[in-house]
Amino acid sequence: MGMQRSSARRRWRAVTAPAVFLVLALAAGAPVAAAPAPPGAPAPPTPGSDGLGDPYYPKDGNGGYDALHYDVAIDYDPPSRRLTGKTTITAKATQDLSAFNLDFAGPPVKAVTVNGVTARFARQGEHELVVTPAAALPLNQQFTVVVDYQGTAQNTQGNGWTISPSGGAFAAGEPHSATTWYPLNDTPLDKVTFTVRATVPTGWGVVSNGIQTSDTPAGSGKHTVVWEHKNPIIGYLTTIGIDKFKPLTQRRSDGTPLLSYFAPGAENKQSLERRLPQVLDVVEQVYGKYPFESGGGLYVSTNLNFALETQTRPIYAPWVDLNTVVHEQGHQWWGNAVSIKQWKDICINECFASYTADFLWPEKAGNQNPDQIYRNALAAADRANVWRTPLYDPGRGNEFTVVYTRGPLFLHALRRYVGDNVFYPALKDFLAKYKYANASIPDFREFVQSRTTKNLTGFFNAWLNGRQRPADEYLFPGSLSAGPRSMQEEQLPGEWANWPLGQGDRKGRR
Ligand SMILES: [Zn+2]
Repeated sequence: MGMQRSSARRRWRAVTAPAVFLVLALAAGAPVAAAPAPPGAPAPPTPGSDGLGDPYYPKDGNGGYDALHYDVAIDYDPPSRRLTGKTTITAKATQDLSAFNLDFAGPPVKAVTVNGVTARFARQGEHELVVTPAAALPLNQQFTVVVDYQGTAQNTQGNGWTISPSGGAFAAGEPHSATTWYPLNDTPLDKVTFTVRATVPTGWGVVSNGIQTSDTPAGSGKHTVVWEHKNPIIGYLTTIGIDKFKPLTQRRSDGTPLLSYFAPGAENKQSLERRLPQVLDVVEQVYGKYPFESGGGLYVSTNLNFALETQTRPIYAPWVDLNTVVHEQGHQWWGNAVSIKQWKDICINECFASYTADFLWPEKAGNQNPDQIYRNALAAADRANVWRTPLYDPGRGNEFTVVYTRGPLFLHALRRYVGDNVFYPALKDFLAKYKYANASIPDFREFVQSRTTKNLTGFFNAWLNGRQRPADEYLFPGSLSAGPRSMQEEQLPGEWANWPLGQGDRKGRR
């Protein structure tokens, strides 16, 4: 800390150099004019931006720094829902910073320090916590922010902190969740490592991302459980669960621990979760090595209308089936290891997770014909209204719609359009190139195009950007051209009724 301050002083000293020159000039008897600001002099430090300008969620994330690690220490009392938090954020300034924002919508903030010195703070808008450190932070300076907060946790019912039927709690929501229980840079663009230290009454368990590293008595009928995740992660993929869990520990053949937890009432899902080693083996064969230090699942009894691919430990509501598990595990590659740049890129997550569960799994684990799966789904596609919304940039609020239907159809058509010998290596290499980083749909288009001499512009435009059923040349490429092109379409009573593929992360797709 002391070293950081002295380096700050060194940097600002540069501003005074022209004054030294001025004194020397005076001493030499030279005529003196009013000194203009010398060219090239550093600009004074300025506040970081309060958002990163995502077209759907412009205030998400913040400018001026790069977060490196979140250490979230909370004390939670399930009966009273009393949440006391102390979150430590390690970050690096990406500009000369006079103030910066965190994203936080949780309990009242009691104090903020920067590098151990009390900082001013103010809460603004939906989730802005504006922090003004006592001393400006120079470019490239690493710094530490500690935020203390305390209050009654709100039940967001699937938009973050959520109260369980047992009286426990967990955090789940997309795109926003983390801000309900700790302050952070809440953007897919800023990946961090993550530690949770949760103190809860004896008898309550704690689950989070990564690996549990300790469980120690904390006095007065409490214990503190620490979870650490050493792979890069973003806000909505972090989670915590506090409940009277039943654990299931499995191991992959390479030794990777698979740590799964079942809330009271969800214990009957253990047989489903025992499929996890096989699921990961099959998916890994297609996409390359499983990207994280551990895996597993968190099965809750809350009747959420979604499942979520929280990193290493997806969250499943009571309606979960094997299709859901494969979908959420597919996300560990698509969405988690490789994350979107902006929310309009959501197809990077959902089209691939759905293709994994709806096509690859039945094909590779169930010996089904993927072309037949495609034809069945396509027969329902017009009635299911999958063409009116584009896969790329579907619009705010439409992120979780056609990515589950048109999305997997798009990828199967792409596979037949370019051929398996282009398709599979392209997916693997794309995942390797963007592992632990971010990629957009334009990045994906460009990458696949670079792997084939075939011009993919028309195909991609029709499937990703078009607002109508693609032309037959894009709907029935390769082996798909051999089957019937006109289909008997049954009258479907509701938009999603009889949709033959999986429900994605969303309950009620069939
Ligand atoms: Zn999904």
